[in-house]
Amino acid sequence: MNILAIGAHPDDVEFLCAGTLARYAQRGDHVSIMVATNGNVGSPTLNQEEIATTRYQEALASAEILEAPLIWLGIDDEFLFNTRETRLQFIEGIRKANPDVIFGHAPSDYHPDHRTAGQMTIDCRIPVTVRLIETASAYLPRVPHVFLMDTIGGLDFVPEAFVDITDTFATKAAMLSQHQSQATWLRHLYGMDYVEFMESLCRQRGQALGVRYAEAFRSVATYPITGGSYLLP
Ligand SMILES: [Zn+2]
Repeated sequence: MNILAIGAHPDDVEFLCAGTLARYAQRGDHVSIMVATNGNVGSPTLNQEEIATTRYQEALASAEILEAPLIWLGIDDEFLFNTRETRLQFIEGIRKANPDVIFGHAPSDYHPDHRTAGQMTIDCRIPVTVRLIETASAYLPRVPHVFLMDTIGGLDFVPEAFVDITDTFATKAAMLSQHQSQATWLRHLYGMDYVEFMESLCRQRGQALGVRYAEAFRSVATYPITGGSYLLP
């Protein structure tokens, strides 16, 4: 299968579904990662251009761990809106990856960019198959199945399915650790260690499943039904 994970910011996919992506990759599925914004405000010291360049390189290094192509939309951080232009960028990015399964943000997440990226992922799953909506890549032959990722901190999210990521947790942590610029930024902004923060949610979700580490998901349940938790690894 082809798998696409869509994050609003360069480190979101690592926080919320990288253990599951690593499991897909391990069993031979093809994984791609798409990032909507360029993270160009995530630094206490660098200018916008410098931090955007840094974050692109960090995202690339993380994706390389899974040998996953990185689809970088480069939209300004904190200013992601569901417009005709951004919708077309999402449609083209999804078509490039030609996914059977997409992972997107839950529209109940805390950050406006996460909510917008999640809603756009849901809104694009049918248009990617529409011939007369033209972008550089060809329209897809089928409607991909969309899973919603957990929210940051697990708040306001009722899991429907869990993936045991005990065996791939080290890969997930290694991917998140590529985002070095965010270690200082998240300590500055929220006073937290970002790898520990990620680990505590995976432990909490793991407890629900009776394993050491897990990630949690829901399926998008609107028409048409395109699959279910059996598509998870
Ligand atoms: Zn984010």
